[in-house]
Amino acid sequence: MHTWDERCDLLVHAVIGYAIERLSLPKDTRWGARPAAELQGALAGSVSPDGIGGQAALRLFRDVLEPACRPMDDPMNLAYVPAAPTPAATMFDLVVSSSSIFAGVWESGAGAIAAENEALRWLADLAGFPEGAGGTFVSGGSAANLSALATGRDRARRRLGDPSPRPRWRFAATSEVHASARAAARVMDADVVLVPADDHGRMTGAALRAAVEADLAAPGGDDGGLFAVIASAGTTNAGAVDDFAGLAEVCADHGLWLHVDGAYGAAALCAPSVRARFHGIERADSFSVDPHKWLFAPYDCGALVYREPEHAAACHSQHGEYLDMVDRSEWNPSDYAFQLSRRARGLPLWFSLATNGTDAYRDAIETTLATARAFAAEVERRDDTELLLEPDLSVVLFRRPAWSPADQEAWSRDAAKAGRVLIVPTSWRGEPCLRVCVVNPRTTPEALSGVLDEMAQWSPDGAGSRA
Ligand SMILES: *Cc1c(COP(=O)(O)O)cnc(C)c1O
Repeated sequence: MHTWDERCDLLVHAVIGYAIERLSLPKDTRWGARPAAELQGALAGSVSPDGIGGQAALRLFRDVLEPACRPMDDPMNLAYVPAAPTPAATMFDLVVSSSSIFAGVWESGAGAIAAENEALRWLADLAGFPEGAGGTFVSGGSAANLSALATGRDRARRRLGDPSPRPRWRFAATSEVHASARAAARVMDADVVLVPADDHGRMTGAALRAAVEADLAAPGGDDGGLFAVIASAGTTNAGAVDDFAGLAEVCADHGLWLHVDGAYGAAALCAPSVRARFHGIERADSFSVDPHKWLFAPYDCGALVYREPEHAAACHSQHGEYLDMVDRSEWNPSDYAFQLSRRARGLPLWFSLATNGTDAYRDAIETTLATARAFAAEVERRDDTELLLEPDLSVVLFRRPAWSPADQEAWSRDAAKAGRVLIVPTSWRGEPCLRVCVVNPRTTPEALSGVLDEMAQWSPDGAGSRA
């Protein structure tokens, strides 16, 4: 099965042919999850002593399995944070897979790592990070947050001289921070010092200072265990951007690591119309951005950039007899996150940047921002809809005052089932509402107005729906 033979020749054409079809043709918007028992039934016998053969397995994927997956890149998928990979980025993922590159250390993956670092440099420059900045690509925002927070904690531990007993490790965040920050706290056995967000869902310097000072003044607060602040460059629920300049002041005064989670929103650093919102991000110790969200790369791709990467290497670098050969003077991506083996998952982004140019990225992001703004204005203009929050980026929270929360849910399910649009309910300050997140330049203001028209005609009994 390792020899390239006639069957491989046939199969590769079938596989690449299918990849071309998937890349070039729209997916069916009604595709989505199926019951596990149904899928298990279809898969029965596929993993068996004799196997079923590549052609049959491919047919199974095409006919049953892929249609049981949501089309994340459909322009009418507006739920959570969808995806919009460029054709260039997606096609290059095939090349990355075909190349068997171990991109954990320079010695084995230099060519790929050098290209990934060009893409990271572009991101670092957008954030105003200095010459020495650098990092790595990880699976996504969750892995980036954990790796950055662990680095901040490690710096604090070394500063304290590895104290015994250990301090109660803790970092500050608002309730709007992504769930992965609280998950990281559990993994690290750290506590979260809650900072109240302002009316817009942002963390301000004043609120952080008050929370930090209260924490330090509380019993045991002087144990040195408060080590970091995790801020948001675009909260997932509302797209709110924190006040980085204010936060950086507080972090400088108290020696805290400032990590900016920009998994969703930091892509907009390349958009002149909102760049000013990120003022102060250049003072952070680290930031992350998910190219698989709003920078048009395929899954999975998260970028993590440190101002002073040596802190990350001190925390994450792995050592062992079998790693003695690693040249520590070179750039080894495995030093900058909790990972050793890694695919060169930043290469599709690099290839798409090289293919299309960074101006195309700027324009595409501006297009999505303009669409979100036009939609927000349309929601405000209509009598039957209400805008809950002026958007910072491309997330729009709105509601129809005439609808109960149950109506919202029923409409959302109905529209998804018919494949019209995927918009799911959330809540803002305890109030149930609907949420639209635009990351796809092919989503149009006209289509979004059409959704509002359709909502106005919809009724729970199905009378107004045009499924
Ligand atoms: C999506 C998201 C994450 C998690 O990223 P994954 O790539 O899903 O791990 C973290 N933070 C924010 C703000 C996000 O939007």
